[in-house]
Amino acid sequence: MSTAVPGQALYQWRQWAIQLAKKSNIDLGEVDWFLQGLSQLTGLSLQLGDYQNQPGVLLSVPLRELTERWQRRIDQNVPVQYLVGETPWRNFLLTVTPDVLIPRPETELMIDIAAELVANRPNAKQEHVGNWADLGTGSGAIALGLAYTLPNARVHAVDISDAAVKIARLNAEKHSLAHRITFFQGSWLSPLGHLQGQLTGIVSNPPYIPSQLVLTLQPEVANHEPHLALDGGLDGLSCIRHLISEGATYLQPGGLWLTELMMGQATTVADLLSQQGAYTDVTIHQDLSGIDRFVSARKAL
Ligand code: GLN
Repeated sequence: MSTAVPGQALYQWRQWAIQLAKKSNIDLGEVDWFLQGLSQLTGLSLQLGDYQNQPGVLLSVPLRELTERWQRRIDQNVPVQYLVGETPWRNFLLTVTPDVLIPRPETELMIDIAAELVANRPNAKQEHVGNWADLGTGSGAIALGLAYTLPNARVHAVDISDAAVKIARLNAEKHSLAHRITFFQGSWLSPLGHLQGQLTGIVSNPPYIPSQLVLTLQPEVANHEPHLALDGGLDGLSCIRHLISEGATYLQPGGLWLTELMMGQATTVADLLSQQGAYTDVTIHQDLSGIDRFVSARKAL
């Protein structure tokens, strides 16, 4: 559904939204991000204002609804991605709702790390056709990234939240990857019992924020994103500990274990992997800001 508004009215609306953003210390870039998501205008056009004299600019919601949503951005700190209903991530435009964590730019790198770790293997071909799991898939971002980047792999996407599984499936359908990914509602590896000892790779961005820190995160995150996807227990590592111990049972020999984590957790997780006894090649990887953000390991042969 779309509705047309005079360019001049939208131009004035944008000025109003920018003023509100300024007063509330919200990054002004979000205004155009919001408008690009809900209109047919490009970022350049919005900046140049060249739509001003168009008799009708197409919006996906009426101007009144645009105003209400922007007001929620300002008054309630609702993330702009939830207000638009979509976020770009790698080469995908993913549907997001408050049932799923908004996929972060730093997580994009995990797909490249997985692909690189596969490319360097003597048995790279087998890993390309193997069974990969994305545990706690949320919006499905990692599952889609794996399916796209490893075009012959079978991807299994698991989430405890039924609502998240629905969004992930929708995103796979939107990007014509649904035939490559199997979706499961359940806790971590438990729906994948039939693949014990057979997984080629386990990739996860699990909840890893220590419980007492969750409410101290910026209000956009703390008040609107699902705590189920953020809260990693007392020290933030309870899900990661579970993935380390279960991964040892579910991975095939040589299988790849890869997780995202938060600044300050990498060496602890690397030690936990080494102590577990079933893993080798424990490696810490940085994100693009140079923060230790991912840890990988291989199930010993
Ligand atoms: N990276 C997210 C954040 O900054 C946390 C995601 C997670 O817990 N996996 O809030």
